[in-house]
Amino acid sequence: MDYQSLIEEVYDEVKHQNLKGKVADYIPELAKVDGSKFGIALVDLDGQVYGVGDYREPFSIQSISKVHTLTMVFHAFKSKLWSRVNVEPSGNPFNSIAQLEYEKGIPRNPFINAGALVITDALVSKYKDPIKQTIEYVDELAGTHCVRIDEEVKKSELAHSERNTALAYFLKAYKNFENPVEEVMEAYVSQCAIEMSCEELAKTFSFLANNGYSVFAKKQILTETHAKRVNALMLTCGFYDESGEFAFRVGMPGKSGVGGGIGAIMPGKFSIGVWSPELNEKGNSEKSIKALELLTDKLQFSLF
Ligand code: GLU
Repeated sequence: MDYQSLIEEVYDEVKHQNLKGKVADYIPELAKVDGSKFGIALVDLDGQVYGVGDYREPFSIQSISKVHTLTMVFHAFKSKLWSRVNVEPSGNPFNSIAQLEYEKGIPRNPFINAGALVITDALVSKYKDPIKQTIEYVDELAGTHCVRIDEEVKKSELAHSERNTALAYFLKAYKNFENPVEEVMEAYVSQCAIEMSCEELAKTFSFLANNGYSVFAKKQILTETHAKRVNALMLTCGFYDESGEFAFRVGMPGKSGVGGGIGAIMPGKFSIGVWSPELNEKGNSEKSIKALELLTDKLQFSLF
């Protein structure tokens, strides 16, 4: 398969369609990003990188980091984790407070904000310096020191984190939160403010396409069964309340972030990072979704 020609073809087609969206502005620092940026990087299971456009430019990965932190706590907590977080798609906005109250403090899944806060709380309980630990872990997955926390984005989100703070206190009220809210919030906004390029992102997702083994870290990151579970969660819950639509149009496990990035995998074949900052009304990148849809339409194989 000539991946390079394929992603170039997809890139050109998407550019011509001139899709429009809106750069996230509820985190003011993100609103400063150039909306016309667009890059695609595909990494095959031998570690070969194929890239087009702005695929080497770092961007704010935001909620894509929830995949990294979930895999970090996965082995440490085993089945215990699933008494604190469910594994059902939410069908509601990612920061819904109503849903959390309705479900008595057990978040629907680890990728909505309430669920991710529980995961980060678990990290804070486990590690003395959870932020450093997260950076080291993601660096290891990428096989290089590439992770940087954008301090401006971090500060900007921290200054506007009323909603996430409310979710955290709600979790605490339901006894599903172990640590001081401020401490967890600091770790959470730090992981969201991680900057990485499409290439680096695709590398960090590579093990999920490869039965849990990372060719970049040169080791088994998750067991095959755990990797399968993370992929199932990405397929059913990775795109907020647009997860069904993404599965329908694209048909790959993946995770989006409000920075406009998407990390996705084709099991047994490749991982991919796409970035374009303009979002649709559900908070997912217009162009990135289109690119992945075209890509899977053009591939000679499919997950289903
Ligand atoms: N840091 C963002 C928040 O918690 C992440 C949102 C996202 O990318 O979905 O609101």
